[in-house]
Amino acid sequence: MIAARKPVVEVSGAGPAGLAAALAVAAAGQHARVYEKHADVGSRFHGDFQGLENWTTREDVLEELAFLGINADFEHVPIREVVGFDPAGVMKIVRSAQPLFYLVRRGAQPGSLDYALKEQALAAGVEIRFRSPASHLPNGGVVSEGPRRADAIVAGYLFDTDMADGIYMAVSEELAPKGYAYLLINQGRGTVATCLFVDFHNERRYLDRSIDFFENQVGLRMYNQRRFGGSGNFSLPRTARKGNILYAGEAAGFQDPLFGFGIRWALLSGAAAGRALATGNPGQYDQVWKRRMRPYQQTAATNRWIYERLGNRGYSFALRQFPKDGDARDRLCRSYTPRWWKRGWYHIAAAGRVKPLLKLRTDCDCTWCRCERHSSP
Ligand SMILES: Cc1cc2nc3c(=O)[nH]c(=O)nc-3n(C[C@H](O)[C@H](O)[C@H](O)COP(=O)(O)OP(=O)(O)OC[C@H]3O[C@@H](n4cnc5c(N)ncnc54)[C@H](O)[C@@H]3O)c2cc1C
Repeated sequence: MIAARKPVVEVSGAGPAGLAAALAVAAAGQHARVYEKHADVGSRFHGDFQGLENWTTREDVLEELAFLGINADFEHVPIREVVGFDPAGVMKIVRSAQPLFYLVRRGAQPGSLDYALKEQALAAGVEIRFRSPASHLPNGGVVSEGPRRADAIVAGYLFDTDMADGIYMAVSEELAPKGYAYLLINQGRGTVATCLFVDFHNERRYLDRSIDFFENQVGLRMYNQRRFGGSGNFSLPRTARKGNILYAGEAAGFQDPLFGFGIRWALLSGAAAGRALATGNPGQYDQVWKRRMRPYQQTAATNRWIYERLGNRGYSFALRQFPKDGDARDRLCRSYTPRWWKRGWYHIAAAGRVKPLLKLRTDCDCTWCRCERHSSP
């Protein structure tokens, strides 16, 4: 039921960013209307496991989400141990006292992150219009339509398995150039994939090699496997605002450019955008995301610049840097901590890796300015 006479804030896209925005609008006592082009939430995904990262800040991500009014009532498994492999197949187990990340499922099914966010939004009175693509937001709103460019791609399989739970990652130019391959097993379900940052045309070859690798190293056994894949983009825009239109999540390019983790930044930016509009202060949005996220994005872009130059020998070296008895989360957290030289190097060299995604025109209300066919007459 739509509450009468409440101001309406419109949102385009019911992914994590859009639903976080809608929840923030509802929490501010306004009405949020979300347009989603598909028949349900999470249609980019099919039940695959993803990681909600917990290493960029000392604060636990679930506490940060709770502060934003987002409940962790989705399935989430705390991961404190990851088995890493270097290009020669040398194994390194990294551990952490606090969760390195939370394993979540993506897609429309109950228990997934997307399903839980949808249920929270509906319970808060958010109106979601499925099968309703938006191309204009004449009264302003939040654009959270996901990626528009492929800076990285993921190709993999979902499957059933009788393997024990485990989290595995391999860094090798033969398996995932400039990226990484991963195998995630939980409660009889698994996801295996290669995440590439270059040479996308050979994704099939890298995926086959990754599967062979995990079969040999950890006895990967897949039953009832289904292919999945997708892309992601990274960008660090000067502004994520066009008048009363605010861009959030991957629509703004907000994603960790080092490893391609975008969920946390989608939720944070979405919540900030929704709050800014609901409080009648859209100009606040740029300030908020720049304060909370920009230093980390610059650091992560510099980390990516370095990572792309490592090659196989460098990957082995990097993996060895995780001390045997040290805390892996602490180590990762330090590598993401904004530092003057990383910020400086970002401006000198690394910014090229996160090319601007948004080229905003100020004279139209279309939700996607790079595509000018939607611009107003
Ligand atoms: C295979 C794969 C694995 C990944 N693994 C991880 C991981 O382990 N950890 C992590 O943090 N991140 C991961 N990511 C990235 C993460 O999924 C995204 O960064 C995150 O989903 C971005 O959220 P979003 O809300 O910005 O966009 P999306 O989740 O893409 O949601 C956008 C929504 O907008 C809708 N939409 C699009 N256009 C319109 C329109 N015109 N009108 C209305 N609706 C529209 C779409 O249908 C979609 O529902 C992965 C991505 C892929 C592809």
